[in-house]
Amino acid sequence: MDLPVDEWKSYVLQKWSLLPKSIQVTISTAETLSDIFLHSSSLLQPEDEMFLKRLSRGYLVGKDPNAPLFYREEGNKKFQKKDYMGATVLYSKGVSHSRPNSEDISLCYANRSAALFHLGQYETCLKDIVRAQTHGYPERLQPKLLLRKAECLVTLGRPHEASQTISDLESNFAAKPTLAASQFQVLQRTLCRLKVKVQEKENLTETSPAALTKAFEDMDLREENEQISSTSSSVSLCTDPLKGRCLVATKDILPGELLVKEDAFVSVLNPGEMPPWHRGLESKWDTRATNGDLYCHRCLKHTLAPVPCDGCSYAKYCSQECLQQAWDLYHSIECSLGGLLLTLGVFCHIALRSTLLARFEEAGKVINKLCGEITNRDTCLPESKNLAQILSYDLGGESKNKGKTVETPIPGCDINGKYESNYNAVFSLLPHTGNHSPVHKFLCALSVSALCRQLEAARLQAFTTGLRSSKLKAAAAPVLYPELNIWGVAMLRHMLQLQCNAQAITTIQQTGSEKKNLITNSRQVRLATGLFPVVSLLNHSCSPNTSVSFISTVATVRASQQIKKGQEILHCYGPHESRMGVAERRQKLRSQYFFDCNCPPCEREKQRPSQGPGREAFCCHRCRALLQGDDVLSCGSTSCTESVSRDHLVSQLQDLQQQVGMARKLLRNGELERAIQLLLGCRHAAESFLLAEHSVVGGIEDDLAQAYAALGDWEKSAAHLQKSLRVVEVRHGPTSVEMGHELFKLAQIFFNGFAIPEALNTIQQAEKVLLVHYGPWNDEIQELQKMKSCLLDLPPILVGPNQ
Ligand SMILES: [Zn+2]
Ligand SMILES: [Zn+2]
Ligand SMILES: [Zn+2]
Ligand SMILES: [Zn+2]
Repeated sequence: MDLPVDEWKSYVLQKWSLLPKSIQVTISTAETLSDIFLHSSSLLQPEDEMFLKRLSRGYLVGKDPNAPLFYREEGNKKFQKKDYMGATVLYSKGVSHSRPNSEDISLCYANRSAALFHLGQYETCLKDIVRAQTHGYPERLQPKLLLRKAECLVTLGRPHEASQTISDLESNFAAKPTLAASQFQVLQRTLCRLKVKVQEKENLTETSPAALTKAFEDMDLREENEQISSTSSSVSLCTDPLKGRCLVATKDILPGELLVKEDAFVSVLNPGEMPPWHRGLESKWDTRATNGDLYCHRCLKHTLAPVPCDGCSYAKYCSQECLQQAWDLYHSIECSLGGLLLTLGVFCHIALRSTLLARFEEAGKVINKLCGEITNRDTCLPESKNLAQILSYDLGGESKNKGKTVETPIPGCDINGKYESNYNAVFSLLPHTGNHSPVHKFLCALSVSALCRQLEAARLQAFTTGLRSSKLKAAAAPVLYPELNIWGVAMLRHMLQLQCNAQAITTIQQTGSEKKNLITNSRQVRLATGLFPVVSLLNHSCSPNTSVSFISTVATVRASQQIKKGQEILHCYGPHESRMGVAERRQKLRSQYFFDCNCPPCEREKQRPSQGPGREAFCCHRCRALLQGDDVLSCGSTSCTESVSRDHLVSQLQDLQQQVGMARKLLRNGELERAIQLLLGCRHAAESFLLAEHSVVGGIEDDLAQAYAALGDWEKSAAHLQKSLRVVEVRHGPTSVEMGHELFKLAQIFFNGFAIPEALNTIQQAEKVLLVHYGPWNDEIQELQKMKSCLLDLPPILVGPNQ
């Protein structure tokens, strides 16, 4: 997803292997990014571009005139089955494929408003009603829509507006004597009911949907850092000869303290599962809901009612404001390139978007700084020079400043020594040009070249057709269109930087809550990829002292434990000690991030090289002591002579995992009794050769808890979840975020089982752990607080006997 699609990758790989040795050497040994780019670019042939075009056409990103009817009908089917969520997504897909101001789009919006109404999303429903009307909703269908509008307004406690809508409706009827008598009666009855409701609601105040805004306000840094934007004053930016830039605590920091709150410089939504339609889908139009259907392509907020770009079916936004902003900032250029950008992958897309965003910054300042750094001379260009001039300097020389005294000692800082979350800081991130393989650089350079040619073609087309609408003007406003080659070199730099600096923007998705009696399982999903220059300052540890989470495109970094003054602030790049053995971690960090980790867990585990984390090990089936050895393992207990081959144990584990997989399938299909039987068998089998803290054992207990919860047997469910909780505690630690999610589940079980003291106790523990990692506006914490106040509001007679 980050890199180009496989077809293009293997195409380029083959092209590379067929290149004359001399050319391969030239590219492999090129010292600067512009050399790499220019050499590769000159090798891009028309047939290569044709091949890419064919791949790009596989993505349905244009507006297909036949799609709206198809999606509307599919949506209606779901609607009839009362699957309002499913219907909403399908109507949204219909909206995306409709042209503005068409009957298609107005009907899709109107139908979506009905589904939203049933989902209780009244504010959003109202917006869709307005959208349906502005796009020309047919006059003959108006009464239905107005009724829904009145009903929404009443429910929202806006009686004055509701009354207005009702009188609109009445005049609408008066003007239409053609309405069938029976229809008229139904409408009148509904109207009467509404009028009564209006009177009842007259005193209620308006509900505010401003929870998110409030979340941001409550998330403010206590004292903003003067040296680094978006950062608390508890840290400072330092440089270390070995590690480069790093953040260090300037005072003692408590767990949960907010250290960084940074909006992404650039972010691109990961399309999720969006295979080109020709790859074995039954219908030409995909009916599945992907991230692209449910999250705003600009701000990444979850939305049930997206508005689509007027020009393509791919880009969708939470609001007209986001749509307009995205258009002005980048989408006016990207709109026609949808298929190509999906083919070339998210990194290439981010590279393009970063350079597009750079046009809007105070270019003069960035330029002065950059040319100072790049050329390492004092001859800065006059302010009028643009990005083209800076980038025409050598961009590959990241090591040139090393060992020399430079005026601004820390790369990425401005002339006053301040580090800000801007293009200057993005540009200063290391591309590690020398570390990437030649063929990877060739792939990136060729992809960027192809993109540049498309940009050029699109630009020419825009000029020749004289298509200079107001929208296009905005796109070309700060005319910083550098020479395409220079633009290409900048994009190549970004593509290479991303391997080490891309930040996955994640969200917690709740699963299982829609089905009856299932406890919600939270799952971390990757929503988007972004660049955060401040977060990028954090170095890696396999056992970090911070937690990173996201709201919209904003990243927050909180201390996950106490950090003493002078200690470095560390973040985990992915390979965490509780999830991976030392060998695997080191391999991953070396190949992706080009360094050898020597954090404390790595040093400790290097001293005692075992077969991965000890708790994943096997145990003796007789005495349950730890088995030791390589190919043949023998029991660690002195009084036991048992020994067994590793191959045997590994295949036993594989069988077990397969069984567990089958049990999960049964669980998903609601075959609970069978699932439980199979899981109990699995647990029995696991006991004979796995330690009680093995992750597979924990997983089985968790599944059993789910199954019993679905049956409504809360006591058994809680007993199994407590066992799973112990495994999580041993593996991840009592204050880990994993522990928080598990405690959240246990709290739900106690709550549903009406075990009040246990529920209150668990809620408190879960809240404490989750607060440290996410701060107060996390969905799970909100849910916990609701449970708590619900329990505390119970009449004392109910609470009494249990205490
Ligand atoms: Zn948005
Ligand atoms: Zn578009
Ligand atoms: Zn490490
Ligand atoms: Zn033994």
